[in-house]
Amino acid sequence: MLTKTGVPTAQELDRVTPTRHRLEQGPVAIIECFQQIPCNPCFLSCKQGAIQEFSDINDLPVLDDSKCTGCGICIANCPGLAIFVVDYSYSPDEGLVKLPYEFLPVPEIDAQVDALDREGRIAGKGRVVKVQRFKGQERTPVVWLAVPKDLVMSVRNIKVGGQSHAR
Ligand code: SF4
Ligand code: SF4
Repeated sequence: MLTKTGVPTAQELDRVTPTRHRLEQGPVAIIECFQQIPCNPCFLSCKQGAIQEFSDINDLPVLDDSKCTGCGICIANCPGLAIFVVDYSYSPDEGLVKLPYEFLPVPEIDAQVDALDREGRIAGKGRVVKVQRFKGQERTPVVWLAVPKDLVMSVRNIKVGGQSHAR
């Protein structure tokens, strides 16, 4: 269950974090969904079959990371903004975090933005390398953020100057 602050516990995160070996192989989803609610667009949107079929609509999603390509479609389809893709293979010094972003303005490519942790604290700086929009899910662009490798597992949001909610 979530803590009172809405921030997942270390044990919850451990449960959904791929092995170091898998993380080093390339992009992979991390599904930080810990509340049993009637919801399954993550399963429905994954064309790779990497998210196990739900036996009950309230099930928590289970990822088979050997099937996950890190495509990010599930990020844009998750109404809880609970899915991220991380890629440690991005460059020798930087890793990539793909995250959902529903605020305006949407950042420009190459923008340097504040990289925030799960509690909304500034963890460092990140560089926007791509803004990806999936058909039918244009309200939820997926921002590709390059960050120092030691921040990949902590950065889960960004702050762009003067933002407001897009919805
Ligand atoms: S990132 Fe792509 S392949 Fe991986 S779980 Fe999400 S939709 Fe499936
Ligand atoms: S779509 Fe998002 S909120 Fe819904 S079950 Fe999947 S991960 Fe959880």
